[in-house]
Amino acid sequence: MNENLRIDISRLKRRLDMVNAIGALPGGGVERLSLTNEDKEVRDLLCKWFDELDLELRIDQMGNMTGTWITDSKGPPVAIGSHLDTVGSGGYFDGSLGVVAGLEVLETLKKAGVMPPKPLSIINFTNEEGVRFTPDMMGSFAFAGLGDPNELWKAKAEENHDLSLKNELENIGYLGSDICGQYPLDSYFELHIEQGPVLEREGIDIGVVEKVQGIFWTEYLLKGNANHAGTTPMSMRRDAGYVAARINTFVRDLTKQIGGVQVGTVGITNFFPNLINVVPQDVRLTVDLRNTEKNKLVEAQETLQSFVTKVAHEESINFEFSELVRFDPVDFDKNMIYSITMAANSLGYSSRTMPSGAGHDAQMMASICPTTMIFIPSKDGISHNINEFSSDADIEKGANVLLLAVTNRLGI
Ligand SMILES: [Zn+2]
Repeated sequence: MNENLRIDISRLKRRLDMVNAIGALPGGGVERLSLTNEDKEVRDLLCKWFDELDLELRIDQMGNMTGTWITDSKGPPVAIGSHLDTVGSGGYFDGSLGVVAGLEVLETLKKAGVMPPKPLSIINFTNEEGVRFTPDMMGSFAFAGLGDPNELWKAKAEENHDLSLKNELENIGYLGSDICGQYPLDSYFELHIEQGPVLEREGIDIGVVEKVQGIFWTEYLLKGNANHAGTTPMSMRRDAGYVAARINTFVRDLTKQIGGVQVGTVGITNFFPNLINVVPQDVRLTVDLRNTEKNKLVEAQETLQSFVTKVAHEESINFEFSELVRFDPVDFDKNMIYSITMAANSLGYSSRTMPSGAGHDAQMMASICPTTMIFIPSKDGISHNINEFSSDADIEKGANVLLLAVTNRLGI
């Protein structure tokens, strides 16, 4: 019977609209930064839906929310998850689609009157985006037992360093008591927009995600000497701004040198004192390096580090650095990947395997259970932007693939 089940796209879209009414921006798009009032509001809405669907709500120490359809089985649940937080001028689909699609799959099964042989959980992970608190994917990181909540709680809010993650979890009422790392799962599925141009360009319905790029974020603090732009001879300058510029162009050269899928970005350069006629004294600069192969990523990081050491020495600049994020590349489970391909095939949708260029909660779940992701096309590859768009037809296909793959995994 499971081949004939289909999700209800209008019900799914209704939920998506309700989620995105919270934190809606005047010009379109949405802003629901982690652990803000908007995040509280969307979490309250999710609690209401969990309640309506008769799910058992659990909230852990990191505020991760799990709604579980308890069945006769004592085994660990099959899980579907993603995140309801967004970036500052975020789109409609990133994260929220995965959570509402999970609810839709569960409701479709409930309405069909089936009783799955395994429990089914829907998860909303805390702070996937990492905009307000660093690092990103923090909730799933702790959920998988990879990070200590006591340490992660100390993360400071970007806009106010007096506010810690723990304070803010308490303030919005989502500091739970469940211990992280102690909730075993049978498997984990995540439906997500591609956030890149490949599926649309190739006219393919479904991306079957086989791996996620590793991400290394490094912050450099360069310390030189502020001085007069007119009277300080070039040979006597300790110009932190110049070193920052050298690092910036080097990162581009490095990506060419490593080649393949290596990408590198200098996203932040904050100058101090940031004045037109003063040699920059201090610069805070961040480097984002990504690759699907760990050895290449390590090579990129080490090459960058020796370059920074060399150029800082040449220019008499002192520097400190800290690794803000270090996530190794992750390979997803072969059987799970196959199950998505087969589900797409049997529904008559085209599919291809592909890596994910963005980080996702799924990569954390891959360390504790068989995991994979389903991608659907993003119009013009745009994401983290108010113009992010995926069509109803594509959402419906993605959610039906999710439904069929989950149904098979549940053993219905
Ligand atoms: Zn996302």
